[in-house]
Amino acid sequence: MTSYDCVVVGGGISGVSAAYGLRRKGANVLLIDAADHVGGAIHSIRTPDGYTLDCGPNTVVSKDVELWKQFSDLGIMDERLAADRKGGRRFILLDGKPELIPMSPVGLVKTPLLSTLAKLRVLAEPLIPRTHLPDESVSSFFSRRVGRQLADRLVDPFVAGVYAGNPKTTSIRSAFPTIWEAEQRGGSIVRGMIMGRTKAPKKPKGEKPKSVMFNFNGGLAAWPQAAARALGSDNVWLNTRACALRPLDGGWELTVERNGQTELVITDMVVLAVPAYVVADLVEGLHAPAAKALRAIPYPPMAVVHLGYKRSAVTHPLDGFGVLCPSGEGRKVLGILWTSTLIPSSAPAGHVLTTSFVGGARIPETARQSDSDIIDMVVKEHEEILGARGTPAMVRVTRWQKAIPQYTAGHEQRVATLNELEAGYPGLFVVGNYRDGLSVSQCWNKGIGLADQVVRQGTLRQCTPTSAF
Ligand SMILES: Cc1cc2nc3c(=O)[nH]c(=O)nc-3n(C[C@H](O)[C@H](O)[C@H](O)COP(=O)(O)OP(=O)(O)OC[C@H]3O[C@@H](n4cnc5c(N)ncnc54)[C@H](O)[C@@H]3O)c2cc1C
Repeated sequence: MTSYDCVVVGGGISGVSAAYGLRRKGANVLLIDAADHVGGAIHSIRTPDGYTLDCGPNTVVSKDVELWKQFSDLGIMDERLAADRKGGRRFILLDGKPELIPMSPVGLVKTPLLSTLAKLRVLAEPLIPRTHLPDESVSSFFSRRVGRQLADRLVDPFVAGVYAGNPKTTSIRSAFPTIWEAEQRGGSIVRGMIMGRTKAPKKPKGEKPKSVMFNFNGGLAAWPQAAARALGSDNVWLNTRACALRPLDGGWELTVERNGQTELVITDMVVLAVPAYVVADLVEGLHAPAAKALRAIPYPPMAVVHLGYKRSAVTHPLDGFGVLCPSGEGRKVLGILWTSTLIPSSAPAGHVLTTSFVGGARIPETARQSDSDIIDMVVKEHEEILGARGTPAMVRVTRWQKAIPQYTAGHEQRVATLNELEAGYPGLFVVGNYRDGLSVSQCWNKGIGLADQVVRQGTLRQCTPTSAF
């Protein structure tokens, strides 16, 4: 039985970043994952006919120069592919046709996405009084502040596109904390944002880092794979499921099932980077209220459908990021990404690749249909929305039975209960996408930040940072 400074349970981006961050601090880290690969939701496939498919997240956005340094340390900076500039053009479905989202004041005046009355209603936002509700749904918040039409036509598809969420049940406070805080601070979103900017510490003058939307040569999985490689293959146990966790005097005993065998692992610290419902099972005996709170986080199902077409078979120019579908349009897909516009190498020459999202909290039943029903439905949507003709050259369906955690009403209290669990057990840490943001870059930063935190707190006993880093 080997003992470690830290065992990280879960090799999604949250877990690999925590493990990589701790390894950089010199800790003896073991990373375990139940699957046969690291990455969790990040999963990339290369098809024999030359498509690169990302079955979970497709692109990440960041302007963090630290991240670029970490990519250099991991040896993947040269593999990073910046998305095409057209990715800044996003579309919303209006009366069955993709309509460009305005990005300038002139565009806002001209857009058919909002009626004249709705545009005037947006301008009245600073005049709308603040409420003192402890929380509110995203739909109710935006309808109140900027009007019903903007909430229905722009916010609704955005929540479905980013969170696979339902704006009627998603919590504004947990899912959009910056916007919620702006209203609390300034009485209106606009005033609160201006006040927040003046209070924020002045950034040094000089060139401002630009946001980059990116993927990698071969798909996003290159990122968690590189971080896992940096740990060394002996320190990454795949096909290894954590079954039980027991506190010891000054450490932890973790029971794992590895290749059909039960093993005990002893560690000073443990980081749980598994989905909330798995953490719930592991901490049930330590803190029943935290287990209950974690089980209450909904994870609706999703299906991700990749379609490849010959370029000539699609009428629409696909000149942007993709199209999101508001509930009011009555479509079966939440949105369609124009993947090969963003990352041209994701499709073979003369072909285009799209990625459609089905299900989520808004229409979960659509993700529970058979593969052939889902494909027929998505092909029909391509015909109607994008003018696609004939049978696609490539089709692939990926199912996520429990896709994305929903930040619904009461999420704030659930996270507070989780904080109590951690406070009661120094040496136990919980990271993941159901806490403080779910984007890939947020999850990565939380994992890296955890390593800094444990060193600051002195939880990690004195280690010598590894020269390899
Ligand atoms: C379809 C889809 C599209 C998305 N699109 C985007 C996007 O475009 N951009 C973006 O920024 N974000 C996107 N996201 C969100 C983002 O991908 C996730 O929030 C993030 O990758 C989650 O990382 P994680 O490490 O917290 O969890 P996960 O990736 O879920 O990792 C958890 C890991 O725990 C392992 N595990 C589970 N049980 C056990 C156990 N008992 N023992 C050991 N290991 C276990 C699993 O095998 C898994 O590897 C998308 C998510 C999905 C599902």
